[in-house]
Amino acid sequence: MLAARTADHGSFRLEPSTTCVDANERAARLVDPGFGRVFTDHMAVVRYNEADGWHDATITARAPLSIDPSTAVLHYAQEIFEGLKAYRLADGSTALFRPAANAQRFRSSARRLAMPELPDDLFVQSVEQLVRTERQWIPEGEGGALYLRPFMIASEAFLGVKPSAEYLYMVIASSVGAYWKGGARPVSIWVSRNFTRAAPGGTGAAKCGGNYAASLLAQSEAIRQGCDQVVFLDAVERRWVEELGGMNVFFVFDDGSLSTPPLTGTILPGITRDSILQLARDQGVTVREEPYALDQWRADAESGRLTEAFACGTAAVVTPIGSVVGADGRFTIGSGGTGQLTQRMLDSLTAIQRGHSPDPYGWRHAVD
Ligand SMILES: *Cc1c(COP(=O)(O)O)cnc(C)c1O
Repeated sequence: MLAARTADHGSFRLEPSTTCVDANERAARLVDPGFGRVFTDHMAVVRYNEADGWHDATITARAPLSIDPSTAVLHYAQEIFEGLKAYRLADGSTALFRPAANAQRFRSSARRLAMPELPDDLFVQSVEQLVRTERQWIPEGEGGALYLRPFMIASEAFLGVKPSAEYLYMVIASSVGAYWKGGARPVSIWVSRNFTRAAPGGTGAAKCGGNYAASLLAQSEAIRQGCDQVVFLDAVERRWVEELGGMNVFFVFDDGSLSTPPLTGTILPGITRDSILQLARDQGVTVREEPYALDQWRADAESGRLTEAFACGTAAVVTPIGSVVGADGRFTIGSGGTGQLTQRMLDSLTAIQRGHSPDPYGWRHAVD
């Protein structure tokens, strides 16, 4: 049962916060928001139970949750999430980037975690309505955006191991600044030998918190080795490059072609990945989705056949990979800086996202 449709908030009932941050304080928080620390005044909430289905869609004051200590998600990690951004465009309007793609992926993650599928229109409305309510929280500066974090948790208070009978879907919003101040900085990547991220038949293609929990130790190992990020190899042969903890990976070759590992179920199907594949094809770049082995990566980097590598995802969009460190030492990609095609992909994608160039794909989703 959805609340009555209203002109402004679709199926969502608006319960305005009575404790909104005042304009001066908000301006102060937006000066240098960083990533994931500054939150807005409201959140979207939709509840699910077997009897009523999805119901009680509300935009309400952002507040702590009060949940029973036996709540299923706290014990068995039945949780999924999404991440997408709303941008202020060159003409002053606001747009989300490909929210329908996030809605679809959210349903596919839900199926894998034995959770109910949130209808796409409810997902898209939830982020639209929250952005409409909170657009004053989009930082003005170059690179600023409102990062939306939709997520769903198993909310039944029961310790039995089974899919929960109740769920809570929510969206929170966080003001974020440019991910890399002063332009993209090439990162160094640690190749994890001890840990894998996802095995065939596992949850690698689902955006679930559990995948991240399992990646944190490998990420700490990367930091200990003096690297910025970890890259995972496949769990079966420990040979094929899969992805970073939260970003997909691309390789650029000296013939100008681009390749990325195929989506075989152990890799998260990134929307940035998909967008780059499409942009590159349309710019006449030869694109391949094919497995790429770590030893080949090293050989190609050393011979010069591989000229660039980059990681991509919603948060940082495109991140150049400068060097790779593994058990047999370090190798550098190209000159260790930001390659030409890497920069071109970053520039063309951000130009579409921010309304600086035409949008032939209909990726921008206006929020009036
Ligand atoms: C979210 C995510 C990505 C990137 O997906 P985008 O839709 O491009 O943001 C890549 N890998 C993992 C493991 C992720 O969770």
